[in-house]
Amino acid sequence: MLAEPDRTNYDLNFRLFGFDVRVHPLFWLVSALMGAGALEENQYGLVLLVSWVLVVFFSILVHELGHAIAFRRFGSDSHVVLWALGGLAFGSPPVAGRGRRIFVSLAGPLAGFVLCGLVFASHQLTEWGAGNGPVLSDLYRQLIHVNFWWGIVNLLPVFPLDGGQVSRELCEGKWRGRGVVTSLKISVGVAATVAVYSLVCEVGARSGNRVLDFLPGWFPHGSFYTAILFGILAYQSYQLLQFHTRGYHFEPADDRVPWER
Ligand SMILES: [Zn+2]
Repeated sequence: MLAEPDRTNYDLNFRLFGFDVRVHPLFWLVSALMGAGALEENQYGLVLLVSWVLVVFFSILVHELGHAIAFRRFGSDSHVVLWALGGLAFGSPPVAGRGRRIFVSLAGPLAGFVLCGLVFASHQLTEWGAGNGPVLSDLYRQLIHVNFWWGIVNLLPVFPLDGGQVSRELCEGKWRGRGVVTSLKISVGVAATVAVYSLVCEVGARSGNRVLDFLPGWFPHGSFYTAILFGILAYQSYQLLQFHTRGYHFEPADDRVPWER
């Protein structure tokens, strides 16, 4: 599991629906960097940047509350931390039962899809996202983008994304102790593929070449950010894979925990 980031003097702490929520300062910084492109685009740049940061904050909070409510449903107490590139919901004691753990992992993206559906339905009814200048239409676009596409990406079988947790549970259910190795191989393969695809998209966009013209228009494009992110995730999964395969085949007598090696 992921370790919880250290507390800082600049954390924002509050309680929501009985859950402790902590927002690490890196969360604001990374969200703002991701949306900084808006500043160059038009006269509403600063407004768009602020709305982007608030959309990311609100959407990731809803996602993590999905996990937290599922934890509570199965008798685990949990708290939420938002930091750097996303959020974490920590439950204790751990949830017993593979099916329940899979449900907890899926509850985050599910909460995002429900929010996306509500935003979409409210727009269908009132068309609030269509008119009244660029700000509302951008707010609508941002809400749909973060809650739908980030949810889909998060379901890829890549560790430590939610899809990666589900993949590991399913592989362990099928192959027991060897399952984690299989899920890490899947994780390396998928993450590396997404990284290369994103790089091809980015290079194509910059050079004006129509490398990926055969893909349908709705198919999500990778960017420089997704290339870096999935490159790092592929490398992390590869390192974990090395650790696990060594543990099984070459150093069976080494009982030290990973961080002691
Ligand atoms: Zn999640």
